[in-house]
Amino acid sequence: MTAELLALWESGLSVDPAGRAVLLHAAARPAATAEELLDVVVGQRDADLFGLRAALFGAAMPVRVACRGCGEELEFEFDATAVSGMALPATETVAVTEGEWTVVMRMPTSGDLLGARGAGRALLSACALEISRGGRPATVDDLPAAVAAGAGQAVAEADPRADVELDVVCPECGESTGAELDIAGFLWAELDSWARATLLDVHLLASSYGWREPDVLALSPARRRYYLELCGHA
Ligand SMILES: [Zn+2]
Repeated sequence: MTAELLALWESGLSVDPAGRAVLLHAAARPAATAEELLDVVVGQRDADLFGLRAALFGAAMPVRVACRGCGEELEFEFDATAVSGMALPATETVAVTEGEWTVVMRMPTSGDLLGARGAGRALLSACALEISRGGRPATVDDLPAAVAAGAGQAVAEADPRADVELDVVCPECGESTGAELDIAGFLWAELDSWARATLLDVHLLASSYGWREPDVLALSPARRRYYLELCGHA
């Protein structure tokens, strides 16, 4: 598993955050084909990523946010397994009506996010099943910014698993601070630190004993710690 995770990390270094989310998802569902993975709705994908996080690093996720009231740094633990128990979207489509505008959308998939590259309108365009103004067909480009933003918000709210919001109350000032927990970004950052620490262990043990990388990676964590201790590195 260690070698596979290092390979995943290596591939992720050269792609953007959307691409990293797809790579992590492949690790969460090793039996799925690339096409199947891209067809998974984002809420389900994120639930899979919370599951992967629990499997790799445990269920307790240390989260830090700065208090909106006093700036105090707040630390708490989020339970990664809580997401699998969240409600599934009640419907497959979301309809938003704003004045004379009507937008009907399906749930975005991992592939939609990858294609949109963070552009809200591109994502809306990919997921819009119907856009009309006063009953006449319209396009995403016709939508006023407020309607487009409202449509994006409605889709996010329809699947809570895709938009995990934290609400922390500050013990210092009592103010509550909301923050979005982006599981793909969070898990990538953890994988990145883990990979760098692992390669440092390889470097230290390879330098001390002349072992090769696979030899070091094959050691159990306890043995690796012990040898590092013997070399004065732990
Ligand atoms: Zn505060």
